[in-house]
Amino acid sequence: MASRRRGSPGRALADALARVDEGELVALTRELVRIPSVVRPGDPPATEAAVARHVEAWFRREGLPVEVQEAAPGRPNVLAWHGDARTGPSLLLEGHTDVVTEGDPREWKRPPFGAELADGRIYGRGSADMKGGLAAAMLALAVVKRSGARLRGRLVVGALVDEEGDMLGVRHLAGTPLARTLAAAIICEPEQNELCLEQRGVVWARVTARGRMAHGAMPEAGVNPLTALAALLAEAPALERRLRRLSARSRYLKAPTVTPTILSAPVDGVPQANVIPSAARAVLDVRLTPGPDAPAIAKEIDAACARAMDRCPGARVEWEPVNGFRPATRVDRSEPLVRAVARAVRQATGRAPRWGGVPGSTDGTILRATLGIPIVTLGPGHRLIPHQADEYVDVRELVDAARIYVAAALNFLEP
Ligand SMILES: [Zn+2]
Repeated sequence: MASRRRGSPGRALADALARVDEGELVALTRELVRIPSVVRPGDPPATEAAVARHVEAWFRREGLPVEVQEAAPGRPNVLAWHGDARTGPSLLLEGHTDVVTEGDPREWKRPPFGAELADGRIYGRGSADMKGGLAAAMLALAVVKRSGARLRGRLVVGALVDEEGDMLGVRHLAGTPLARTLAAAIICEPEQNELCLEQRGVVWARVTARGRMAHGAMPEAGVNPLTALAALLAEAPALERRLRRLSARSRYLKAPTVTPTILSAPVDGVPQANVIPSAARAVLDVRLTPGPDAPAIAKEIDAACARAMDRCPGARVEWEPVNGFRPATRVDRSEPLVRAVARAVRQATGRAPRWGGVPGSTDGTILRATLGIPIVTLGPGHRLIPHQADEYVDVRELVDAARIYVAAALNFLEP
């Protein structure tokens, strides 16, 4: 089959694009949305397992080689590919199988897992974030195989777990032999098919202030960690300004922000109105743009803690990153991956690429940080719709995404 359809690259592409079938893509997306995959810790059946099994079965029916990786107990990553890693680079189309909670179903006009098709849209939790993008990637892989187009290297699709949680799926993948073959990745997250060259980074700084327990009526006998923590929180705007100064201005991303999100005291034991606790804790959600590396960011947070300690003699203020550092990512427009995808947007949609940036961090942030490979983010679904009630994906965007993935793969893996 592979050798029958050589022809010119243009013919191979036109032939492959013609095989992207809207009906098939809509049906697959709806199947994935109808399998709930909200992860509920403490409720063992509430994982990605059922939808992962569906993805695996679909790949196997297509005759694609499949690798299932147990990223965590009962939480499988599913990867499939076409082509041969020994003949060239591997390009990854990446998606995640977990979805966030549907919240209160009464806030939805359509059933959250009904996958209703209306007005050119598919409705449901995960339709945009990101079972639509995953389905488009799956279909793109199948279409490339069915077309018989020749590839140098291979096209891989990864359906990973836990993107909405601790990103266990991509962290697991990054340590496997398969990951060592990856040369580049397209993250299929909902960015309204913009070609996103940058993603904001994040570090969740868990700050602990330690003092000395004492009676609330005799504060002079102790050291109050709440006062020290308040001093640290008062430093947040200054920390934000420093990080903004260190970061490059971005056309696509909002400047760095430092946002306190969690506050707790006491850290251990029962809260009591007449007890100064020994410790208090806060989390700063620090969002980053390209520029400073992890040590430079850490130095700034260290300095904020030091200034808080100066104001509260006797207290210790320390911090640690929760889930590690995820620096911002950026790729150059001259990168072969970017050129392949930009050309694909023209070939698949007839329009020039719209450039963009990702406001949050994704699995791609981890791929970039651990494997050092170039990544871009491009996928169907409005950027602001994830995690909302009545989430939807436009069928038009879904089909465009699948066509773009097909063309990008043929461009990047052209013999
Ligand atoms: Zn997502």
